[in-house]
Amino acid sequence: MTVTDLVPAGFTPPVDAETVTVEEFRAAVAAWLDEHAAELAKPADHSLDAEVDQLGKVRRALFDAGWMRYGWPVEAGGLGGPDVLRAVLGEQVAERDLTDATNYSLIEVLAPTMISYAAPELAAEMLPRLLSGREQWCQGFSEPGSGSDLASLTTRAVQREDGAWVINGQKVWTSLAQYARRCVLLTRTSPGHSGITAFFVDMDTPGITVRPLRTMHGVDEFAEVFFDDVVVPNERMLGKLGDGWSLAMDLLPYERSTCFWHRITYLFTRLDMLVAEASAQETEPEPTTDAALGAAYLALHTIRCRSRNTQRRLAAGAHLGPETSVDKILLATADQRLFDTAREVLPGAIELTDAHWRTEYLYSRAATIYGGTAEIQRNIVARRLLDLGKE
Ligand SMILES: Cc1cc2nc3c(=O)[nH]c(=O)nc-3n(C[C@H](O)[C@H](O)[C@H](O)COP(=O)(O)OP(=O)(O)OC[C@H]3O[C@@H](n4cnc5c(N)ncnc54)[C@H](O)[C@@H]3O)c2cc1C
Repeated sequence: MTVTDLVPAGFTPPVDAETVTVEEFRAAVAAWLDEHAAELAKPADHSLDAEVDQLGKVRRALFDAGWMRYGWPVEAGGLGGPDVLRAVLGEQVAERDLTDATNYSLIEVLAPTMISYAAPELAAEMLPRLLSGREQWCQGFSEPGSGSDLASLTTRAVQREDGAWVINGQKVWTSLAQYARRCVLLTRTSPGHSGITAFFVDMDTPGITVRPLRTMHGVDEFAEVFFDDVVVPNERMLGKLGDGWSLAMDLLPYERSTCFWHRITYLFTRLDMLVAEASAQETEPEPTTDAALGAAYLALHTIRCRSRNTQRRLAAGAHLGPETSVDKILLATADQRLFDTAREVLPGAIELTDAHWRTEYLYSRAATIYGGTAEIQRNIVARRLLDLGKE
């Protein structure tokens, strides 16, 4: 399946990818989303199944209308144009709360990897499936003994005489693995950083077992994934033998630019909700409430400014590196501060009454874990940005 199988002949893109400005793109997407608000609205069912269905529905509608293809290369089924168009689209989706912002952003981690590392024919065949919402994919990096120290991973891939690879081992915390049709998987092919090799694995291959794990916010969001003699063709290797570590490192620019922009927008929607609910329950102005909301706003505004600058640097061709750990620290701090503020200004809502705020509060605790823990980011800032040495 390539993009020509999914797009009707004669399809005319809504705007010109190469000449459209960010402001024009934002206005055009916003107008389209407003027009289709009723058909794209989130269902009342908040289960993960319903959420994943909704994610597929939103992506498909955006793909069919062309929006989902901007900012992705033409060779992989996109319409071209700068990466920032993807940030704007995700921002508009998050602003309307059409689908879970974190799940929506997973595409930013997985698709650029495929485009940079997969054989062009494989990327052209697979990318449109993801962009059009027909498939979910997952990221199989972390293992029970290898999270922060990813380079110590042990899931082993051994090449057979016929060229295919046989994979054995276990991954953990793999988001949405139970819904995924494919996995971008890191394996060990020899010792050291240069002994990590990535594969694009079909999740229905015999020998793969997915066992969902329940998070503390009560959702089976991620899973353990077991690989027992899983046979993967050599053509499914991403990049060359030993390219897995650079693939993992190359994710950072996308995760910490486009993805972050989406999440910041989503957090602002929650700040607006919080201000509205706090105002509704106040009989007279409460200075401590105002101060707490002000501090939450300031934290969000700070990361938004920082993130805007990161987007601009990326657009100007900068190579993003350890300085994005600052973005990660600011975002995780703002995320947790916002929900701490909800706990403070809506007394009892999180502990006693409101399932919605409780779920989001609990999920915000993970912000200092996923994508690199708070301690690891601070280590990077200390060692690589401030040159403070190892201890
Ligand atoms: C919601 C969520 C979704 C996730 N989704 C995915 C996914 O889709 N795919 C995937 O591959 N992974 C995923 N992860 C896993 C995530 O990448 C890891 O949890 C993260 O890298 C931390 O690794 P760990 O859990 O093994 O913790 P560990 O690395 O064991 O760390 C435990 C604690 O020790 C601290 N620590 C570790 N090393 C050091 C050090 N050198 N100096 C100071 N402190 C240190 C850490 O900061 C942490 O507090 C997800 C995690 C979460 C929470």
